[in-house]
Amino acid sequence: MLNIVLFGPPGAGKGTQSERLIEKYNLVHLSTGDIFRANIKGETELGKLAKSFMDQGKLVPDSVTIDMLRSEVLKQSTPNGFIFDGFPRTNAQAAALDEFLLTIDSSILLMLALEVEENELKTRLLKRAGVSGRADDADPVIIENRIRVYNNETAPVKDYYKQQGKFVSIDGIGTIDDITQRLFSVIDEKN
Ligand code: AMP
Repeated sequence: MLNIVLFGPPGAGKGTQSERLIEKYNLVHLSTGDIFRANIKGETELGKLAKSFMDQGKLVPDSVTIDMLRSEVLKQSTPNGFIFDGFPRTNAQAAALDEFLLTIDSSILLMLALEVEENELKTRLLKRAGVSGRADDADPVIIENRIRVYNNETAPVKDYYKQQGKFVSIDGIGTIDDITQRLFSVIDEKN
């Protein structure tokens, strides 16, 4: 299986680039943020719980997120592979993902990390708020919080994959097409 972690801070372009990658490599896109938002819309218990964290720009607890991710992976019958978008966001999630993939005889091939500097992220998120309708994109205080959480809790996950020789940094500034090409060339080289 071609399993890729598409990594980066909020607003780095993970969702946009995921669409390109799933099309080219015939992968299943698993965005934990999207799954949480679908649960909020469906007014499930998981949605209610997730919302209380998401509204503040905090991470949903690891145990909840990991259980959800596992069941989403198992829903797919014979996938070519997965794009994990917005997961793992902590070292505990990364370790749980490895452990779980092992049980289905699989593993992560690459972590592709989109790098975009903070001011650009803030501009992009506020602009996206108009289209996404997401409350967590519209409020500068929540945006600050999400970026802080990324720097403190999520960015260290890069080291987890560096230690495994799977980390590749990708310049996330440029046209959408340019960035897609950067991703394709790294994947094609490794795959
Ligand atoms: P995203 O759509 O990836 O920007 O995620 C939106 C929000 O969902 C985040 O700010 C978190 O509150 C929550 N979330 C998404 N993925 C995770 C994860 N892997 N671990 C914990 N919380 C998450």
